[in-house]
Amino acid sequence: MPIEVGINGAAGRMGRLLLAAVLEAADLQLLAAVDHPSNSAQGQDVGPLASLEPCGVSLSEPSPRAWAHSSAILDFSLPAGTEQLLRHCGHRPLVVGTTGLSSELLARLREHSQAAPVVFAPNFSTGIALLSELVSMASRVLDTFDMEVVEAHHRHKLDAPSGTALHLASLAAAARGLDAGEALVFGRHGDTGERPSNKVGVHSIRGGGIVGEHRVLLAGSGEYLELKHVAIHRGAFAQGALRALRWVVDQPPGFYGLEQVLGLPGKE
Ligand code: NAD
Repeated sequence: MPIEVGINGAAGRMGRLLLAAVLEAADLQLLAAVDHPSNSAQGQDVGPLASLEPCGVSLSEPSPRAWAHSSAILDFSLPAGTEQLLRHCGHRPLVVGTTGLSSELLARLREHSQAAPVVFAPNFSTGIALLSELVSMASRVLDTFDMEVVEAHHRHKLDAPSGTALHLASLAAAARGLDAGEALVFGRHGDTGERPSNKVGVHSIRGGGIVGEHRVLLAGSGEYLELKHVAIHRGAFAQGALRALRWVVDQPPGFYGLEQVLGLPGKE
C-alpha cells in the first residue's frame, strides 16, 4: 500500500521539488497539495507545477477537508502555513522543514507530537546530519587538533557565516566542553598573535553560484583531517524529507530529528 501524502506549501520552490519526488516514487501517492489562497495556481492540476504531466490532484486552499485523505504530511511552507496546518491536520504524522518558527509555534508542534509522530529539521540534508555527528566525534577524538570551519556560498546569500557553519562550529566546541560564545572566532586579520588551542575558527567565502559547501579542518602538528560536504542541488533536502516521511509513518507519537530517521548511534 503506498503512503498517502499531502504537501503544504506545494507551489513553493521546495514544494515543487517535493511534488516531483512524490509523484515519481512508486511507494508514495499524492493525495493533497495545499498552498496559500492567493497563489495563482489555485484549482489547477499540480503535475505541471512539478514539470510533469497532469496527475489528477489540484492545488487547494488550507482547510481541514484538504487533509482528509492524507496519511502523512510534508510541510515546507512559511510559519503562518505551519500554524494553519497544525489547526487543520488532526492527528496526522508530520515532516516539517519550514524554518523561522517562533518558540510558541515550536511548542505547538511539540504538543502535536504527543498525539502523532513529528520529524522537524531545519536542514533535511542527510549528508549534513551525518557530518554533524562526525564533527562531534572528530573533535572529541582528535582533541589536540586545531579546528576550523570554512563555508562557501553563492554571491546572493545575505548572511554570514551560514547557520550550518555556526551549528558545526558550536558542535565542535561543545564536544570539547567549550562555550561556543567564547570559542568561536570569525575570520582573522592583522596582528592576530599565535592561534590559541581553545578556539574554533569560522570562515566564509562568497562567490558565483556555489550552492553550499562546508569544510571542517582538524589540523594536528604532523597531519590534518578534512571533512567536507557539498550541496549540489536543493533536491537533496527533498530526498531527506522523503526519507523522513517513509520513516515517520511507522513511529509512535514523539518529536524526532533527522538523526533518529538516519538511526545515528546514540540517537535512536
Ligand atoms: P517558497 O517561498 O518558495 O515557498 C513557500 C510556499 O509556502 C509558497 O508557495 C507560499 O505561497 C506557501 N504558503 C504561504 N503561506 C501559506 C499557508 N498559509 N498555507 C500553505 N502554504 C503557504 O520557499 P521555499 O524555498 O520553498 O522554502 C519553504 C520553507 O522551507 C522555508 O521556511 C525555507 O526556509 C524552508 N526550507 C527548509 C529546508 C530544510 O532542509 N529544512 C530546505 C529548504 C527550505
